[in-house]
Order: sequence, then structure tokens, then C-alpha cells
Amino acid sequence: MNLPIARLCAALDYTFRQPELLEEALTHRSASARNNERLEFLGDALLNLVIAEYLFQHYPKASEGELSRLRASLVKGETLAELARGLKLGDWLRLGPGELKSGGFRRDSILSDTMEALFGAVYLDDGLAVCRDLILRLYRDCLARLAGAGELKDPKTRLQEYLQARQQALPVYNVLEIHGEPHAQSFTVECVVAEARAVAMGSSRRKAEQEAARQLLEQIQ
Ligand code: MN
Repeated sequence: MNLPIARLCAALDYTFRQPELLEEALTHRSASARNNERLEFLGDALLNLVIAEYLFQHYPKASEGELSRLRASLVKGETLAELARGLKLGDWLRLGPGELKSGGFRRDSILSDTMEALFGAVYLDDGLAVCRDLILRLYRDCLARLAGAGELKDPKTRLQEYLQARQQALPVYNVLEIHGEPHAQSFTVECVVAEARAVAMGSSRRKAEQEAARQLLEQIQ
């Protein structure tokens, strides 16, 4: 293994058993027919799986829509390129002459694709558990920031903050119907803002309002 690659392994805190996998992950299609596009394909799926699993476990109250939004913010090219820069991945890329000249080693898309390829290479080299550890280690700061921002406030609070940030009028909640015996009532509540409305049911007025607010947020976001 040449020296620069050894340094990258140190930054990753991972040593490849099959260094040719790492070479392949670092090779852009402009440099060789044996390049990182197939590893990128694999790594993209692994990253989505690992992040989805993490969010599923750490945000038990988040809806499917919220989980999807959180994941999208973590796996997007910008975030991956930021991680790649932290590892100085650009220094180790193998690019063709054209990409070299045009500064391809700095480009977000090339950096983020290479990160994904790296995850694919680690998976093939040492399996899912090790790949998961590596991804979560690299993402540690991103995930910590997420936890701070997303103590996942309840939907009514988030709706109110969303509207206030846009200087729009606050939502109005109306009880439309109350069904059932006093000990087993069901409430139907509407939540109304300027140009949208959502109706939801719940076993208490509070639960129905939260659900209506959640649906309304999904509509307007
Ligand atoms: Mn990609």
C-alpha cells in the first residue's frame, strides 16, 4: 500500500484487507474503465440503510415523513462532500486529465460519489457491521447536531414556529365533533391556516389537535 493511501486508512480508522477495493473506490470514471461507479451504487444503498436504521431507533416518535426528511438531509451530496473534505479525500482521488485540470477533486458531486464508493468498498472488504460503524463514526457530529435541533418538538409547536418564521397568522383549532361515551370519547378537530386545512380524530382534544397540526405541516411544507 502506498503512503498516501495508508494515511487515508488512518483518517478512516480502517485498514483494508483488499487494498484494491480502496483503489477502485478512489478512481473516477475519467481515470479508468475500472472505476468507482459500481461501488458508489452499492454504497448509496448502504448509507441509506444505516441512516434509516439509526433514525428509526433514535426517533421513535418521528413520523415516516419526518424520518424521510431527516434522512434526506443526511445523505445528500452536500453533507457527503463535507465529510469527504474532512478526510481530505480530494487529495487521494484518481482523476483523468480533463477532470484534474478543471479541479474535479474539489467538486461536490465527485467527492460525494467517492464517499459512497468508499462505504461500498468497506462493506465488501469487511461486512455490514464494520461498514455501519464506519458510517456512524464519520456521521457522529452530523447526528449530534441533528439530535440538538430535532428533539422532535410536537407538531403544534413546529407548525406555530413554521408560520411565525414566515410571518403568517397562527393556526386556529376548532372541535367539529365529539363522539362516544364520556369515558371513551373521540374528538374530530380541524386545524386552519391561511390557505390550508386539515381534519383529524383523536381520543382527546389534544391528540386530535396534534394530529391535525402534523397533517397540515405535511401539506404546506
Ligand atoms: Mn451518488
